[in-house]
Amino acid sequence: MRYLTEYRDPEQVKKLAEAVRAATARPWRIMEICGGQTHAIIRFGLDELLPREITLIHGPGCPVCVTPVEILDKAVAIAARPEAIFCSFGDMLRVPGTAKDLFTVKSEGGDVRVVYSPMDAVALAQQNPRREVVFFAVGFETTAPANAMAVAEAARLGLNNFSILVSHVLVPPAMRAVLSSPQNRVQGFLAAGHVCTITGTEEYKPLADEFRVPIVVTGFEPLDILQGVLMCVRQLESGRHEVENQYARSVRPEGNRVARKQVEEVFECIPRKWRGIGEIPSSGLGLRARYAAFDAERRFAVSHIAAEESSACIAGEVLQGHKKPHDCPAFGIHCTPDKPLGAPMVSSEGACAAYYRYRRGKGEGGRRKGEGGRRKGEGGRRKGEGGRRKGEGGRGKAEDFAGS
Ligand code: SF4
Repeated sequence: MRYLTEYRDPEQVKKLAEAVRAATARPWRIMEICGGQTHAIIRFGLDELLPREITLIHGPGCPVCVTPVEILDKAVAIAARPEAIFCSFGDMLRVPGTAKDLFTVKSEGGDVRVVYSPMDAVALAQQNPRREVVFFAVGFETTAPANAMAVAEAARLGLNNFSILVSHVLVPPAMRAVLSSPQNRVQGFLAAGHVCTITGTEEYKPLADEFRVPIVVTGFEPLDILQGVLMCVRQLESGRHEVENQYARSVRPEGNRVARKQVEEVFECIPRKWRGIGEIPSSGLGLRARYAAFDAERRFAVSHIAAEESSACIAGEVLQGHKKPHDCPAFGIHCTPDKPLGAPMVSSEGACAAYYRYRRGKGEGGRRKGEGGRRKGEGGRRKGEGGRRKGEGGRGKAEDFAGS
């Protein structure tokens, strides 16, 4: 397949892993922001190909994972209303609220529908003038333009039975929160390439300057990620802290001006709560006053709903990179994809789901704590998962990688 296999080429992977090894003289900790990058790293064992001095820390870039429990409770309350058609992307249906998830509401008779675009919900509102159609607008800067377009289109059509439940979050304020934490261990970032196709790269420069961290805008395939790591390591080793663009095939410095204009027309920057982390200033998007009529929280009077996170779930620490999924006592025991306690176990981009799928039963994910090597006797990844073979020792070989 064009544009996919090229970025998984085993020989190129091997060369890049060797280049990272050659460039690395000291220990460095690099955070990959996006959950899609985390899944690629764990799925293809990219962290196991790196020299032991490089630690990859998984970041808060899974939109489903960071949607706060109280928003889920608001969604559940709205979806249970008889007049409502509640529309969502499929990955939000099994994210647990305080008492239930949207899938349970659906099983109890609620009209919860999976759609593939917010414009599908606008069409439903046109087709069902006596029902209230609500779209669950979740995500980072990537999904905001389509949701803004849906609201603008509903306004243009004069629809008074369409609204959105907004839980949009922004990446740079989350990076600032990570860097400002007294527990911060991150020395460099792989920024999320798809977010930057919308926003461009300019807004990362103040962060790189203020905190003196390299930020490399990076894609999602194995070669992208290893090249992003290499660019980041070269900056760290030479004392530079610049914004670089590994994902130049998709990201332009100015981003997508049309999409940004659409977002600015409909949304404004507001403080937002992040699941397991708490409120981060200016880290979210909310509807501007002129579009308040499309705000589902107001329309259904659910703004008062508040909720506490489950004390059994350490998602906040996982999302900030302080802990790995294996460090959670509930991982794989009380929390599984079938019975999740937290969103990172549900989402296709969640770190806990990635470790459950690709690293279950492997302790700290194949490396000894603190030394970056593998556990004695484990022999790397499981047979059939594209991992290394018994007896090969050392770091991964590119030919094993081809089996992934
Ligand atoms: S394993 Fe489950 S309970 Fe633990 S942090 Fe992940 S989602 Fe939360």
